[in-house]
Amino acid sequence: MQNVSYKIKKRESKVVIPKNPGFGQHFTDHVFEMDYNEKEGWHNCSIKPLDTLSFHPATMFIHYGQSAFEGMKAFRTVSNEIVLFRPDRHFNRLNASSRRLCMPQIDVNFAVEVLKELVAIDKDWVPYSEEESLYIRPFIFGIDPVLGVKPSATYKFIILLSPVGAYYPEGFKPVKILVQDEYVRAIRKGLGECKTPANYAASLLATEAAKKLGYTQVLWLDAVELKYIEEVGTMNIFVTLKDEVVTPKLTGGILRGITRASVLELLKEWGINHSERLISIDEAFEAHDKNALKGIFGTGTAAVISSVGILKYKNKEIRINDMQPGELDVRLFNEITSIQRGKIPDRHGWLVPVEAKVTV
Ligand SMILES: *Cc1c(COP(=O)(O)O)cnc(C)c1O
Repeated sequence: MQNVSYKIKKRESKVVIPKNPGFGQHFTDHVFEMDYNEKEGWHNCSIKPLDTLSFHPATMFIHYGQSAFEGMKAFRTVSNEIVLFRPDRHFNRLNASSRRLCMPQIDVNFAVEVLKELVAIDKDWVPYSEEESLYIRPFIFGIDPVLGVKPSATYKFIILLSPVGAYYPEGFKPVKILVQDEYVRAIRKGLGECKTPANYAASLLATEAAKKLGYTQVLWLDAVELKYIEEVGTMNIFVTLKDEVVTPKLTGGILRGITRASVLELLKEWGINHSERLISIDEAFEAHDKNALKGIFGTGTAAVISSVGILKYKNKEIRINDMQPGELDVRLFNEITSIQRGKIPDRHGWLVPVEAKVTV
């Protein structure tokens, strides 16, 4: 797809970022939006004031779930520059999700360019506080007003921006996780690798049940044998064994996390022995019994690193590292957030500056 031009229609407003923005509850003034049909490809591209959408009741994505999304962030650095974290990777992953769901591809360079422009226009919405950031939600969905299971012929792509608060308002606190062996999230060769609504709908019942029991999240096992560790809620998982850091290999049932990829690059750079392989829940519990389990942590855009303090599987509950964040967890968290905030050089080329004149 070649680059298309886009229109800009701005709304004047007085930006007030709420004190504790939380997650996904407040939105900026503008969105980027474009439409797709077979004849014109992507067209109607524009940055415009955020408004409600209106759809026919037969609109396809509502009934058959043809939809995919991304979640990434923009940060304000210590020198007051606004940067995006690995946006090309996120748009490439959106394209991978779209391919699996028979939806059209977007031009990644074009998407990064319009995202920069959109964030520049709404730059006053990028929080100044160190723990806060601007969450970016690009998404695509089929909009034919037709009932019947087949790929939609028309689509909409939107980028929505939301200022979000500190993930750890009370500091870096390990979470309680329940290993789920009654329900599965996704299956190999199914939609496990896609960021698509179906996977999140599939996770709700088990997650709500875990929360009622006092756990923060669910650890999913593989859908075939209910034996191998897959991932946690909206995070990939790493198990720190005595002499090896293990993360489940990408079998098709797991989301290809970009934080996961960044952590793997750092482990390699730091010369820490690590592998992407199958790891069973029994192996993790046996390692704990042998005093060889040093830590477990999740990785994802929202939290960056989240240490697991308690893990429950069947009738056994283990305390990991005495409920303290692991040494490696803290090192990774500090490294990644320091890069994102421009406190240390971006030696991997993860940041994309939003080239706007930022005025204080
Ligand atoms: C988004 C997501 C992740 C984390 O991916 P990042 O690219 O690191 O944010 C992991 N698992 C699931 C199911 C997700 O939706």
